Amino acid sequence: MHILLVEDDNQLGEAIRHALVQQSYAVTWLRDGKEAARALRDPTADLVLLDLGLPGMDGMDVLLEARRDGVKTPILVMTARDALETRIRGLDIGADDYLVKPFHVGELVARIRSLTRRVRGLAENLIEAGGMKLNLATAEVEFRGDQVSLTRREFALLQALMEHAGHIVRREALENSVYGLDTVVERNAIEVQVHWLRRKLCPEAIRTVRGIGYMIPRESK
Ligand code: CA
Repeated sequence: MHILLVEDDNQLGEAIRHALVQQSYAVTWLRDGKEAARALRDPTADLVLLDLGLPGMDGMDVLLEARRDGVKTPILVMTARDALETRIRGLDIGADDYLVKPFHVGELVARIRSLTRRVRGLAENLIEAGGMKLNLATAEVEFRGDQVSLTRREFALLQALMEHAGHIVRREALENSVYGLDTVVERNAIEVQVHWLRRKLCPEAIRTVRGIGYMIPRESK
C-alpha cells in the first residue's frame, strides 16, 4: 500500500516515514503544499497523511482543492491546530480522519489501518484469497494453514496482489505499492520479489500475466 506523506517538519516526517516503512507501507514524502496538490491530482497513493501548516500552500486549501477536483483518496489530516472549528471545517471539506499533534506514531498507524478498513468496507484486518490469509494488524501470513515468514517488501507485494485477487495487477502499480515514488526501482525488482514469494508459498500461488503484471486467483486449486 502506497502512502503519500505531506509534512514539512523534517524530524516528525522522518519519524512517520520510518514507522510506516517498518509496517511495510511504501511512502512518498512531500514537504510542500503546492507539490502535494499536484501529486493529489494524479492519485497514485492509496492514502494521504496531510499536515495543515505547509509552505507553498496551506494544507486546508490542498484538501479543499483535491475534493473539488473529485479526488477520492482517503485523507488523514495531522495538525497542531486543535481548535474545534478547524477540525469541523476539515471534516466538512472532506478529511476522512483527524489527528492532533503531538501524537504517538503507533496511534497514527492504528488510524491508518482503521481508515483503510473503513474505505474498503472490511470489518477486520484480514484479507483472504488463493489459500492465503493476510493479517494487516499483525503482519502474519498463512498459506494453506501454515505460517509463512515474509520480508516487508514481500508482504507489501502480496498485500497489493491480494487486495485485487482475481484481477491482474500491473507491474507499475505493484512497484508503486512496494516502493512508492521516492525509490528508483530496478527493471526486474518486482519479478525478483515474486520469485522469492513463490519459493515461500508455491509456484502457482502467483500467476504471471506476460507483459502486463501478476495475479492471485480468488480460490486456490
Ligand atoms: Ca507544518
